[in-house]
Amino acid sequence: MNKRYSFEFFPPKTEAGREKLKQTRAELNTLDPSFFSVTYGAGGSTRDNTRGIVLETRAAGIDVAPHLSFGGDEEADVLELIQQYKDAGVKRLVALRGDIPSGMGATRLVYARELVEFIRKHTGDHFEIEVAAYPEIHPDAKSYDKDISYLKAKLDAGANSAITQYFFNADAYFYFLEDCEKAGIDKPIYPGIMPILNFTNLARFSRNCGAEIPRWLTRKLEGYGDDQESVSKFGNEFVTEMCQILMEGGAPGIHFYTMNQVEPVKTMLQELKAED
Ligand code: FAD
Repeated sequence: MNKRYSFEFFPPKTEAGREKLKQTRAELNTLDPSFFSVTYGAGGSTRDNTRGIVLETRAAGIDVAPHLSFGGDEEADVLELIQQYKDAGVKRLVALRGDIPSGMGATRLVYARELVEFIRKHTGDHFEIEVAAYPEIHPDAKSYDKDISYLKAKLDAGANSAITQYFFNADAYFYFLEDCEKAGIDKPIYPGIMPILNFTNLARFSRNCGAEIPRWLTRKLEGYGDDQESVSKFGNEFVTEMCQILMEGGAPGIHFYTMNQVEPVKTMLQELKAED
């Protein structure tokens, strides 16, 4: 079976950043990914920016999957955006509930399952739909089993596959796959892989999204202090090795959170493909 590789970008805030992203995309495109995806800021805060990058990527003839959430918007606005994507030849969406942006108060969050239903209702089978999965369980989840049952509900509502939150523990992914299978999920679940670039930022972000950095890894990375070169050297070795374990264990491919960087994803993927 051919493995699927995909690369995620976030929309840069400045024009210079967007120009740089085009170069990054061109370099990563030489690795022949199945698609790029572009995140959608919490509460739709990057709507225009995400749309701009998606449409520009599509115009360059590249497969791209916009991330999307209701984010407090009206149905008509979400539908208009989906229609624009469809008209531009976008064939894949990543459907999410999204998070409440800080300072926005109590916006009603629409579960991802409802967005999947909405997309299917209005556009039939046009889009391949990805949803999010959490091997270490979503921070708001009532329980491990409930979280898996809601993942199943999103997939049963018409999503084609899932991409996981990042993790640094291959066992968490394998146990999760086993439990998903027991719960009757038979669609692919792609591991989402985060490179280790800057430990302080990674630790902060991981606390917020409920991804666990194992204690030994935390202590090891902390030990490098300001020596960024050693952090990324060890980080690359560790994450590449984990990817190899995932692939050997049957992962159907990998979704890379590129952080808009060419390295280390390029090096990692070259190593993985060399062993394919
Ligand atoms: P849902 O599947 O709707 O689940 C959210 C929570 O509610 C879970 O705890 C679940 O157990 C629970 N739940 C689900 N259904 C029910 C129900 N019927 N009753 C009670 N509880 C329920 N965020 C962004 O803002 N923009 C992005 O671009 C973005 N991209 C992402 C890409 C990936 C691959 C991943 C893994 C996450 C991404 N996120 C993004 C983060 C995501 O939006 C958050 O994790 C969010 O809190 C949950 O979104 P979801 O789609 O998983 O939600």
